[in-house]
Amino acid sequence: MTRPELYIIGAGPGDPELITMKGYRLLRQAKAVLYDNLANKELLAVTPAGCEKIYVGKQPYGKYTPQETIHALIREKAFEHGSVIRLKGGDPFIFGRGFEEMLYARAEGIDAYYVPGITSMQASGMENVPLTHRSVSESVWMVTGTKKDGSLSDDLRLAIQSRATVVIYMGMKKLAEISETYLSSGNGEMPAAIVQHASLPNKKFISGKVKDLPAMATASKLTHPALIIIGRVVELHFSGESKE
Ligand code: SAH
Repeated sequence: MTRPELYIIGAGPGDPELITMKGYRLLRQAKAVLYDNLANKELLAVTPAGCEKIYVGKQPYGKYTPQETIHALIREKAFEHGSVIRLKGGDPFIFGRGFEEMLYARAEGIDAYYVPGITSMQASGMENVPLTHRSVSESVWMVTGTKKDGSLSDDLRLAIQSRATVVIYMGMKKLAEISETYLSSGNGEMPAAIVQHASLPNKKFISGKVKDLPAMATASKLTHPALIIIGRVVELHFSGESKE
């Protein structure tokens, strides 16, 4: 008997065309899809008739599906249909708990496969903010704004001391604290940006100095999902703008 399968697929940052061809092909053959809040719902339209589509999203600070329920559904649907797809926003293994799901599935006798996705920070390039640039930034740190215990990642304090581009995921509720941390370490003037709904038609982008970011975000009514990008690469945004 063939073993049931799980495919953990990255949906990309938002624009449905940014999924991989492999992810797209698997969706077209899907029997059951468990999808997230941040995975573009338009992608569900490519699944065949009869495919079971189950929302298991987590809305920040709102309604959410407990991880145990997601695990139980993975198991149930994999055995029921022979295969199940787990569609997650961005890349499943970047602040996505995808690897936990993979380990769970394997422990349950399910063959699990990972299909990478374009992580949301890569959509910064669509705003003319490259994550690295010769002579400007030699590395990139992806930092979570919110740890399990609700505190700010200690890595941020280390990152501030480097010349790296710092990208903060899930950081909007901590924006004031992040800005203050830069300011108190003497880096308040560092160029910084926020991009909300990156790669989507309703995207919003603001940039300025990191010390001014909280006020700018409030004025522009920026909320979730958004990425905070801090570093000299943000200045390149202006040289990248088309001159009409
Ligand atoms: N696995 C996802 C990240 C999940 S954590 C990835 O690889 O992108 C959720 C965080 O991702 C959000 O709080 C936000 O910081 C970021 N995010 C996801 N999609 C986004 C988008 N379209 N625009 C801006 N930020 C996004």
